[in-house]
Amino acid sequence: MRTSTKKAAIKLPTKIRIVCPTCGNDTDFYEVAEGVILTTRYTQNEDGSFTPISDDSQVFGEIKFYCNECDEDLTQFHKHFLEMLF
Ligand SMILES: [Zn+2]
Repeated sequence: MRTSTKKAAIKLPTKIRIVCPTCGNDTDFYEVAEGVILTTRYTQNEDGSFTPISDDSQVFGEIKFYCNECDEDLTQFHKHFLEMLF
């Protein structure tokens, strides 16, 4: 029998907010994914219409993160953005 004392670390959200160093914007941002393939699966219904079942997206390129106010490249904050994305 194996016992594990390893507990998942619970990280409290930090209070650090991303602020654009260029214009001071701290509310509006956008993310750009390069080289994305979107696959959508459909099922055809009795009447010939289609219903989407699922969406798959695969990113092959870089994901960039920008300030929505001045378009400053904030990719250095992208990791923080992902951690704070709920
Ligand atoms: Zn900005």
